[in-house]
Amino acid sequence: MDTYMTVTAYGENADKAAEQAENRIHELDAELSTGIEDSLIAVLNKKGSAELTKDAAYLMKCSLELWKKTDGAFNPAIYPVMEEWGFTTKEYKIPDNDILRQKVQLSDASKIKFDENSGRTEFEIDGMKVDFGGIAKGYTSSEIMHIFEENGITSGIVSLGGNVQVLGSKTDGSPWRVAIQNPNDDDSYIGILEIKDKAVITSGSYERYFIEDGKTYHHIINPDTGYPAESGLKSVTIVSDDGTLADGLSTSLFVMGFDKAKLFWSDNSDKFDAILLTDEEKLYVTEGITDSFDSDMDMTIIEKED
Ligand code: AMP
Ligand code: MG
Repeated sequence: MDTYMTVTAYGENADKAAEQAENRIHELDAELSTGIEDSLIAVLNKKGSAELTKDAAYLMKCSLELWKKTDGAFNPAIYPVMEEWGFTTKEYKIPDNDILRQKVQLSDASKIKFDENSGRTEFEIDGMKVDFGGIAKGYTSSEIMHIFEENGITSGIVSLGGNVQVLGSKTDGSPWRVAIQNPNDDDSYIGILEIKDKAVITSGSYERYFIEDGKTYHHIINPDTGYPAESGLKSVTIVSDDGTLADGLSTSLFVMGFDKAKLFWSDNSDKFDAILLTDEEKLYVTEGITDSFDSDMDMTIIEKED
């Protein structure tokens, strides 16, 4: 996954659980990573069709559901656009306008033919490609929670590049404390969240970007334009029981921007909470986590609308 990860488990089978977790991370990476040449997803992208494994089929299903629910803000077919910007090779460049427009047309998730039962997947347009980069970390961490449970672990935590999911509480019964990174400074944080049995996943423009002619171009794309989303948000953190959903939504709400994100939360407040930091450094927290989030910054509470 091109990032650092740590797995911590407490209990009799902790070593075994941690080892299984590590193997599972590598297994999922080998299946899902677009950057590994013979991964299932790389083969799907090359051939335009494939039989998906259970893991890949689950992510396809969730991605397409999110694509619908978020009005296309989350788009698993965005990969041709990612390639054009060089985010897939780290050979960054600003794309030619006409070519980018073609790539945006190619990123049409309605043209993914997917049979949920068999996993059979086919692209209806030549050259289409999918990318689970916006959702796979969260699925991976939630799979590790299952491995923990199967091994009788009652207290554990995994961090995949700063995206965290926890099982239970700390061994002394107190909640896990997760720091939310300050986008402007690697060494400080915007606040601390206390959680049990939750995933905490952040998307930010600061995570991957390049600068050309003084302008910054980051890796979260507005699927309508093909350009990095300039939605007024600097980072979005999602807190949810469901790691896969948390990851998909962190990317989605970042693309939506504050007003749409707020409405989306209001309609789905039973499924997640969010911490939003705007480009102007204003901090917003949804009402479900106001008691568990502590920050030195001024924060505004987002309440549910009727
Ligand atoms: P995250 O860090 O979870 O926000 O994921 C960012 C990654 O998701 C990018 O590096 C791309 O691989 C992919 N991505 C970028 N834009 C989108 C989008 N609008 N919908 C879905 N995935 C995206
Ligand atoms: Mg995400």
